[in-house]
Amino acid sequence: MALENKGLLIVLSGPSGSGKDTVLAELRKRDLNMKQSISMTTRPMRDGEVDGVDYWFTDVPTFEKNIEEGYFLEYVKYGDNYYGTPQKKIEELIEEGYNVFLKIEVEGAGNVRKAFPESVSVFIIPPSIEALKSRLKGRGTESEETYKKRLEIAQDELLRAKEYDYIVINDDLSKCADDICAIISAENSRCNKMIGLVDNMGNK
Ligand code: 5GP
Repeated sequence: MALENKGLLIVLSGPSGSGKDTVLAELRKRDLNMKQSISMTTRPMRDGEVDGVDYWFTDVPTFEKNIEEGYFLEYVKYGDNYYGTPQKKIEELIEEGYNVFLKIEVEGAGNVRKAFPESVSVFIIPPSIEALKSRLKGRGTESEETYKKRLEIAQDELLRAKEYDYIVINDDLSKCADDICAIISAENSRCNKMIGLVDNMGNK
């Protein structure tokens, strides 16, 4: 099947402190025909978060009913909370030609790769371990113990970067966004995306 009119499904992961949210905000300024998927979660809403914008916030029974009904493309239990990617909305957006971004953790990214092999996965890393440490410390709101735990989780996640299609360094924000734009551009030139167009030209 020719895929040329469809958008891409782009999975974006990276450890806490890699700057995923800032990168996504930068990408939103670019002309990418982009939509970000809104996940459903059972974790409590944080200050400043808005239901239906940051997440769809729900309770455990509703989330588990949604699992049973096949509502999710993937879901995980991360810490004490469920997080899941609604499937139908994403499929509709891709069909409409949007490049759909999922900002999800490594376990979920692996599940998306299995369920949706044509997805593109990008892992964002900080420029160095020192930069990661200083970004995690920079938040300044946590105890030394919490910081150490976050660093440990971040380092475990870094070891899984090799499972991704691409690894992008977030040192200079603009360069990092340029790199992701270049990936999207290259993916849209893949033979299976273009072949329908070429075949039409070739048909006499
Ligand atoms: P937070 O609670 O800080 O918003 O998110 C915790 C982690 O869950 C982050 O790594 C975030 O990217 C990930 N996450 C958010 N939504 C989903 C989702 O739908 N599926 C998966 N697998 N991870 C998610």
